[in-house]
Amino acid sequence: MWDKLKDGLTSRHLTCTSCNSKIKEGERFTANITMPSERDMLISRLDNAIARTANSVLCEKCQ
Ligand SMILES: [Zn+2]
Repeated sequence: MWDKLKDGLTSRHLTCTSCNSKIKEGERFTANITMPSERDMLISRLDNAIARTANSVLCEKCQ
C-alpha cells in the first residue's frame, strides 16, 4: 500500500519512445494511451499515470 502511495508521489521521467529524449517541463508531447481498467485507475501524478499506461510517447520534435 505504502509503495503504491509512494509511487504515486514520485516523479517518473517520461521519455520519447522515438528519440529517447526526456520530456521536459512545459514541453508538449503526444501520448498514445490505452484506457486503463477501473481497478487500475488509481489517483496518481499525471506523469506516472502516463508512464504506466502509455503505449508510446512522442516529444515535440518526433510528432
Ligand atoms: Zn523524440
